[in-house]
Amino acid sequence: MTLLALTAAQALTPLETIADAVVLIEDLIIRAVGPRSEIAIPPGARTVDLGEKILAPGFVDVHIHGAAGRDVMEATPEALEAVAAFVLRHGTTSFIPTTLSAPPEALLPSLEGLGKTIRAWGKSRSGSHGTIAVPWAVASGPASTTLLAEPLGIHLEGPFLSVDCRGVHPREHLQPPSLALFDQMLAAADGSVRILTLAPELDGAAELQAAAIEKGVRVAIGHSNASYEQAIRAVDAGAAHAVHVFNAMRPFAHRDPGILGAILTDDRILAEVIADGVHVAAPALRLLLRSKTPSRIALVTDGVSATGMPPGMHRLGGLEILVAEVPSSEAPGTGQFVCRNHEGKLAGSVLTQDRAVQNMIRLAGVTLREAVLMASYVPAQMAGVAGRKGTLRPGADADLIVLHPDGTVAGAMVGGVGNFR
Ligand SMILES: [Zn+2]
Repeated sequence: MTLLALTAAQALTPLETIADAVVLIEDLIIRAVGPRSEIAIPPGARTVDLGEKILAPGFVDVHIHGAAGRDVMEATPEALEAVAAFVLRHGTTSFIPTTLSAPPEALLPSLEGLGKTIRAWGKSRSGSHGTIAVPWAVASGPASTTLLAEPLGIHLEGPFLSVDCRGVHPREHLQPPSLALFDQMLAAADGSVRILTLAPELDGAAELQAAAIEKGVRVAIGHSNASYEQAIRAVDAGAAHAVHVFNAMRPFAHRDPGILGAILTDDRILAEVIADGVHVAAPALRLLLRSKTPSRIALVTDGVSATGMPPGMHRLGGLEILVAEVPSSEAPGTGQFVCRNHEGKLAGSVLTQDRAVQNMIRLAGVTLREAVLMASYVPAQMAGVAGRKGTLRPGADADLIVLHPDGTVAGAMVGGVGNFR
């Protein structure tokens, strides 16, 4: 048994802020969280004082296609580990590798590779339970171990999407909803599919949604030209999440509010947003905040392989994309890079979740706690891992991050193993 006590100026649970906080960790699990005046640190526990820094749950990214030069559809352990190591440095302790619409002969082998890799990951992690020697590199130079964020399953973004709102998903790779193809996809991924993004207005979408939910897959609406009524029907039937809200969906109009009208007014739907300052303008971010509140918004990256790489040509699934710096007139002060396909359409992002948190504070005026809530607690709900990920509470996995008072990431811990500096 390894008992560890982390103390810090603040902990963001993130439903509340605890001043002068203690987080007690035993092996892989958080055992207690509270103010130092109320939590007794057991004798024999190793104590690490993080001083003025802030403890927060690790971020959860439910929509990410790649990073560090690797695309998740490569579907090898090496590709996924490269993505996992990169995102962890940006505060993301778990993520859902997201596939793009592709022909079945490319998609199915990708799903098979991802499923295998993700299942093996789970095993190696539980296999190390009890033998972890807590290889900390506390306050002393670089981490001694390569820590990896944990892949939680697969997000299928396509191929059952609207032709009108396909974004950069190639038209020829879109498919009408098909139970047969969906079953093949599930079988290839062998139990690892967690989220299916679906355009609810397509013929057969309602049947596909019902089948997905029955099989334990969560349904998100997106890449959709749905009317308000079509979107509400999907939510009535259990769709709980909307993919990159404002992007690749029918625009809002006051006599035809469409899918956006449903997302903005129905509290049952949680909303993903790409807060890079380019995909959604700051006033639209503020509108989203007013209508959904931080407890119903998830900061996703929609990150592609080019994330963390130099500008130039990169790949997204089977597409070539160009990464270039955004002129500051287009996104003031973001210093952000943007990905476009050959037609100039936005093609994912090179955003990281730590940056999304900073952007929401700067562009939309939220507090650090609210931004952390949107990067951890809400996406954990979307992923179906609420209570276990995205929260500092007894019984949750010891996946947490340490932030400097300005919100930048100082270190992370995954499953009780940390690299705080
Ligand atoms: Zn998309």
